[in-house]
Amino acid sequence: MKRYTSMRVGGPAELLLYPVDRADISAMVRRLNDGAVPCRFLGNGTNIIVSDEGIREALIRITKMNRLHFQKTPDGAIAEVGGGYSLKRFIKECAKRGLGGLEKLYWIPGSVGGGIRMNAGSFGRSISDTLTGIDLLNERGEIIEKEVRPEDFGYRASPVGRYECVISGRFRLKAVDVKELEKDMDHVYQERRKNHPMEYPSAGSVFKSVSGQSAWWFVEKAGLRGYRIGDACVSEKHTNFIVNLGHAKARDIAALIEKVKEEVFSKLGVKLEEEVELWGFNG
Ligand SMILES: Cc1cc2nc3c(=O)[nH]c(=O)nc-3n(C[C@H](O)[C@H](O)[C@H](O)COP(=O)(O)OP(=O)(O)OC[C@H]3O[C@@H](n4cnc5c(N)ncnc54)[C@H](O)[C@@H]3O)c2cc1C
Repeated sequence: MKRYTSMRVGGPAELLLYPVDRADISAMVRRLNDGAVPCRFLGNGTNIIVSDEGIREALIRITKMNRLHFQKTPDGAIAEVGGGYSLKRFIKECAKRGLGGLEKLYWIPGSVGGGIRMNAGSFGRSISDTLTGIDLLNERGEIIEKEVRPEDFGYRASPVGRYECVISGRFRLKAVDVKELEKDMDHVYQERRKNHPMEYPSAGSVFKSVSGQSAWWFVEKAGLRGYRIGDACVSEKHTNFIVNLGHAKARDIAALIEKVKEEVFSKLGVKLEEEVELWGFNG
């Protein structure tokens, strides 16, 4: 899984499947169910850490289900986009057409489906702000069209269950000045470059904010900036990132996550909760 995750660690997956269309993914899920083979959905692998032993589940990756269609409305457009589409590319395509609403999420490295499941967000905006509907594949392999509202989502939380797959999303976007959009996106990119350790593999923010306070603050206060276990390191640049300095093992990263939680709790009495998902660590 090193090749399929931005943290660049992890052993093998049992199966990696690429459905080409809706009929294909429905048939796949039904067949896996019939054989009692557990499965998970993998996007761009930018929010997960897979154990060194790997995972027993079959992984379904919908990168081939990446259609994009815009339909004009009086004040902008509705975009229908496949769950496997890159979020960054989607935002670029919107900007080209002068369509705003997602620009603050520019450069989040995941897929549209992964972004919806995680309710990804940055600079005070979330993917759910402009999302009006999703096509969702359920555990039985049926695809259901669902309307959604921002209230259905929470901080890094969505109504998408662990065994469901976002096949596509519908976004209501507003017509705005292209130059303004480009300026906003450039600002977002520059801020990210300045504040995030983009030069090393990572899985983004490791911990969720606590009562509105970003987790980096607690990690910093606990004196853990630059703390290392093997090649897993609390980033010097942003203390809510754990970076892989080269040859980190998944077990080093998991041990570092535990160490940070213990230190923050013992020194500050605050319980940090992971934003990243750990796959394959419990047998
Ligand atoms: C450098 C860096 C910066 C980041 N910055 C941000 C940030 O600013 N804000 C932010 O919110 N996140 C950020 N992230 C984290 C990550 O990019 C987001 O959580 C992203 O939305 C994950 O998308 P993905 O496609 O990579 O999902 P994955 O990591 O592949 O999967 C994450 C979860 O989503 C599920 N999933 C994936 N695809 C689907 C699908 N089609 N249907 C249903 N479930 C699915 C998986 O099963 C898993 O539970 C950052 C990560 C990195 C590496």
